[in-house]
Amino acid sequence: MVNWVLLAFALLWSRPATAQVEVSLQPWPGTARAALTITFDDAYPSQAAVAMPLLEARGFRGTFYLIVDRLFQRGKYQDLPSAPLADWQAGFRRGHEVGSHTWTHVGLDTVSTQRMQEELRAAKEALEGLFPGAPVTSLAYPFSEADEAVMQEAARYYLTGRLGPSPAGEPPYNDPATAALMGLKAFFLCTGEDPQLWNEAADRTLQGGGWLVEALHPIDEEGYCRVREEDFAAHLDYLAGLGGQLWVAPVGQVAARLLHWRAAQLHSAVLADGRVQLHLTEPASEDWQVTLSAAGNWKVIDGDGRLLPLSAAGGALGFEWPAGQASATLESAGITAISASNWGQIKEFFLVRTP
Ligand SMILES: [Zn+2]
Repeated sequence: MVNWVLLAFALLWSRPATAQVEVSLQPWPGTARAALTITFDDAYPSQAAVAMPLLEARGFRGTFYLIVDRLFQRGKYQDLPSAPLADWQAGFRRGHEVGSHTWTHVGLDTVSTQRMQEELRAAKEALEGLFPGAPVTSLAYPFSEADEAVMQEAARYYLTGRLGPSPAGEPPYNDPATAALMGLKAFFLCTGEDPQLWNEAADRTLQGGGWLVEALHPIDEEGYCRVREEDFAAHLDYLAGLGGQLWVAPVGQVAARLLHWRAAQLHSAVLADGRVQLHLTEPASEDWQVTLSAAGNWKVIDGDGRLLPLSAAGGALGFEWPAGQASATLESAGITAISASNWGQIKEFFLVRTP
């Protein structure tokens, strides 16, 4: 399986010089170097009333893991109201994701197999009925508890399952290549912490090229891990300030893209004249970016021989893939020429100068 394509090859020229070229398919869209998802558990009223507007003001959308019983104030939620169902539905129509936090919020590994199966299946069905047009594919395990049997059963209904924080010493984010989607690690934001820690986790995720899944509970409201609105808003401002470096999107969107990326393969062939032809097999119509590291200075020529402008992006050099053209040529300032054809959906290409 080639889910992370890293190709290195040496090109020999008439002069005794060697050019090292590495190309890799990047998992995130545009110029993003990492992904971040903001999730909310337990259907607290403040999530619809406070968190949604805060997110939207910055162009973000979140994932809200709802408990069916709480939406109707049943069972152990008789005295714990949620936001009005209409508010959740309006939020969904504005682009937020509805996820499942099961029917009654019970530890799935503490109940009978039949009950566990019912919590997973019935909650998905009920939520999809309440939110027409929503495929409910994202699950958060109650109390972050799941054993192998729970995860296997959950995978019948959901694309992802969110667990708790990673063990101390491990990165707080998920690795796009190796993370088990039914066992995603979360990063909890809680009262009493220095909110600067939240920004630092985003920084580490950027550095590691990972996917950070933040987990929140109430905002300025009684409850587990409550955070202050002011702190949360400041954190969102920080994330917004990172601009295109960070892709902020709901769990379902990131997971779907990761599955496409893991299935995509980038093939290369070194031609007799030293040019390198690249071919991408990709089952979905995503826009991909390719990172290329190569020694020397490069210029980019489109299929009609026009020089394409390079732009700096995220520490790399990039250019827009020429619209309607199947190939482009990368030429060094000297005699090196690398040509790409049959690129399919690739829209962007990035060059990185090695020191
Ligand atoms: Zn919960």
